[in-house]
Amino acid sequence: MSARPDTFTIAGTLMVPHGAEGVRLVEGTLFVREGRVEGMREGPPAAAPDMGGEGWLVLPGLADCHLHLPQFDSIGADGLELLDWLESVIFPAEMRWADTDFAREMSLKAARELLSFGTTAVGAYATVHHEGTQAAIDALASLGMRGVVGQVLMDQNAPGDLLVPASAALSQAMALRGCGGMMPAVTPRFAVSCSEKLLRGAGELAAKTGWMIQTHLAETERECEYVRTIHGAAYVEVYRAAGLLTPATLLGHGIHLDERDLSTLATCVAGIAHCPTANTFLSAGEFRLAATLHAGVGVCVGSDVGAGPDRSMVRVARAMLETAKRVALKDASAPPTASWCWWRITGGNAAALGIAQGGTLEAGAPADLVLVRPTTDAWSRAADPLSALLYSWDDRWIKATLTGGRRVFEA
Ligand SMILES: [Zn+2]
Repeated sequence: MSARPDTFTIAGTLMVPHGAEGVRLVEGTLFVREGRVEGMREGPPAAAPDMGGEGWLVLPGLADCHLHLPQFDSIGADGLELLDWLESVIFPAEMRWADTDFAREMSLKAARELLSFGTTAVGAYATVHHEGTQAAIDALASLGMRGVVGQVLMDQNAPGDLLVPASAALSQAMALRGCGGMMPAVTPRFAVSCSEKLLRGAGELAAKTGWMIQTHLAETERECEYVRTIHGAAYVEVYRAAGLLTPATLLGHGIHLDERDLSTLATCVAGIAHCPTANTFLSAGEFRLAATLHAGVGVCVGSDVGAGPDRSMVRVARAMLETAKRVALKDASAPPTASWCWWRITGGNAAALGIAQGGTLEAGAPADLVLVRPTTDAWSRAADPLSALLYSWDDRWIKATLTGGRRVFEA
């Protein structure tokens, strides 16, 4: 290490932005000072860097735009449809967060696990418990993570222990505090579990605080029909009327939408958080990535743990590509490039979470970094090294993860 522990160099193959929505790989050296990237020098890696060197790969921290912290122990409860899975597996797990110490410990455990997969930023759901949600925000911040955590709002169609009346839930959510790089988010779970009063109140809370909004939309057909029965309107319209479709809204899933829905979303939301591994696990349907992007709707991507079994965002990116290829067989659309997929899980997702310069290695960016030591260099000689890297990726190659220049995971 250099004389000053907050000033150091990292060398190797660096993943840097390329155009507006892509990345490229370049040999170089990164200079880090006081938690931020001070600069980058392209060319042969420095001879004696403090970290990395020949054969190392340096990625910006990965970002996961949709996951559930209380569901990390519920991965793999198979064979259930969404609404049945929520009732029999997920709601009992979320009740345990009534114990704030449990919520804190579980958040720390989940955060450490995410960091071991290179994820340094999240859009996360907690539970309906106010203290547990605050503990989660503080726990993730203590490890230097960035992004948002929301107190889940539910006042109907869930077990009584998880229902909080609209006015109480909203004033609790309003009392949440950001910590370090973590902020609260306004988080009505989905239209099934929220009354109109709660949805409208959530829209007002977001307008008042300027916080991001995260919720679920059109994950399964049964859910869409249920929303129409409860609210007497189409799903997108329910959210629009409640003031929940804003430029800072991330909508989980968005599978069962028609062209009219997409054109409404194109004018007002930050984007859909596409969760390919969760959609496969719950047999929810196939997200139409190309059609959604073509309609002008932003798309980011998330693991959706615990419906999604994979914590690795590289694996989630690969699943996104695999889903897009299956959909392409039906609608002749073009699947995304590997460069786009890598950009999506780095700078693209970080931008969707509102993290300035997040997921890039640009000067001024937070030094949230993943140090990777591949056991093969075959991918680097491929015609498209980014594609070869995506498909041959092995999470065991991750040797360290840094947030704000601090080592928070070491293999
Ligand atoms: Zn979800």
